[in-house]
Amino acid sequence: MLIKDCLFCKIIIGEIPCCKVYENEKILAFKDINPVAKVHVLIIPKIHIENTGQRKYIDTLGELLLSTEAIAKKLNILESGYRIITNKGKDAGQIIDHIHLHLIGGEPLNPLN
Ligand code: 5GP
Ligand code: ZN
Repeated sequence: MLIKDCLFCKIIIGEIPCCKVYENEKILAFKDINPVAKVHVLIIPKIHIENTGQRKYIDTLGELLLSTEAIAKKLNILESGYRIITNKGKDAGQIIDHIHLHLIGGEPLNPLN
């Protein structure tokens, strides 16, 4: 379920510290170490899933997406809005192979194009 040399698995077991903002039995959310906006939180499942595309993980993936509302509420950006991004693979710039949503907001964001 967890991978020995995965950075985010190490965060889940507390081997590497993080600034936690939200947690339930399935997911963990913590501040990105290199934020690109006033609010930049990473949301990860507590099991090691590399990325999207596997139906067997549909519950956990759904939980990830749903959790954004509770996390945004806790961070006081539910009204102002937020962006969710997930990078998959090399071209998207995925550097950690443990699926994560970037939840970004707290200020007006640049349009995507
Ligand atoms: P990716 O490019 O894989 O979608 O994003 C990985 C994210 O993890 C980056 O935004 C990066 O700043 C963040 N990150 C990398 N190492 C750490 C760490 O040790 N702690 C935290 N909190 N974030 C990290
Ligand atoms: Zn992992």
